[in-house]
Amino acid sequence: MKIEVWTWGTGGPFGRELGVGPNRRRRGHTATSIVIPDGAAGGAAGAHILVDVGAPSVERMIEAGVSPPDLVFLTHSHFDHLSDLDRLANSRMRGLMVRAGVKDFERALKLFGPLPVIGTEDCLHHPEDGARARFGYLGGLVSWRPLSGYDVWQRVRRPDGALSPEGSQRDGLSLAGAPRRSGGAIEGASPERSGLPHTGGFFPFEVKALPVHHSKHAPGSCLFLFRLSLGYVGSPGGDGPRFRNFVVSGDYKSMEEWVIESPDLRDPACLVLDTNTIKASGDYHASLEENRSLIDRWTSGEEEVLVLLNHLSGFGDFRKGFYDHVPDDEDWRAAAGFATKPKVTVKIAEDGECHRI
Ligand SMILES: [Zn+2]
Ligand SMILES: [Zn+2]
Repeated sequence: MKIEVWTWGTGGPFGRELGVGPNRRRRGHTATSIVIPDGAAGGAAGAHILVDVGAPSVERMIEAGVSPPDLVFLTHSHFDHLSDLDRLANSRMRGLMVRAGVKDFERALKLFGPLPVIGTEDCLHHPEDGARARFGYLGGLVSWRPLSGYDVWQRVRRPDGALSPEGSQRDGLSLAGAPRRSGGAIEGASPERSGLPHTGGFFPFEVKALPVHHSKHAPGSCLFLFRLSLGYVGSPGGDGPRFRNFVVSGDYKSMEEWVIESPDLRDPACLVLDTNTIKASGDYHASLEENRSLIDRWTSGEEEVLVLLNHLSGFGDFRKGFYDHVPDDEDWRAAAGFATKPKVTVKIAEDGECHRI
């Protein structure tokens, strides 16, 4: 049973736009899912984690037939990362109503509870630039859940309030501190020592945010790390679960050295990176050339790592004169064909694609 990584939208701020032909700039705005099937993560019930929700990700999820997200994580509050939030929150509730045969909307809100939306305090609550300032009218359909700081592993309690009055009052979700661990795969740790949830009370992963530099109009910008168990090392019940990290970045131009040096970024199972231009060094986004050095620093060649290049635009390359056209898919594929370390695979992410890890 494998973890699924879906890239619903892989375009940058210049993505799928009005008046541009279908053969160019056809990529949707950013949205990435990590789907943990039931039983995949240490035997726990599964989860659908969505990171950012640019349009038209909901339509792509409907076409792919995936179940609605259990949780949404927002890397920052730019339009190309949350433009489909209204559609998502409403579509989820309407789908739940139809499937359960519930006809009254108010009753459905109480029964199913809001969709938790998790981000840094500034990303959610900044008075002008926070997500809540733009989507506050979705109250009842979403619950805003700020993370308690950066670089702290946290667990997310399952919304036990969906069918209980007490839970629905509190929205049923809490973020609890979990024991800190560092490094890539942890082998030989018992479930108790590892701190990873093995009961039904928490979603089957831990999460932390690390800060990144992006734009002054995106306060609280971060990348997310999700740590989960990929089955067992050795015999079941013997050596214990094997943990790997899944890293999904939002937009960034750069990061502090202590972030780049974080051991938690070493050899993740999957690394989804904002790669906005091939060559041009933009003001707000990393280029493929800049990311190549990060990929080199974050991989050892001793673990399987899948790198997905995301948020592709190339418009900055066009403006800075590197190409006489906006780089198209062929340009991206050619540029990403560089040699890597053993066990490291670098791919251009495609809209609606699923990678199983
Ligand atoms: Zn963006
Ligand atoms: Zn942005």
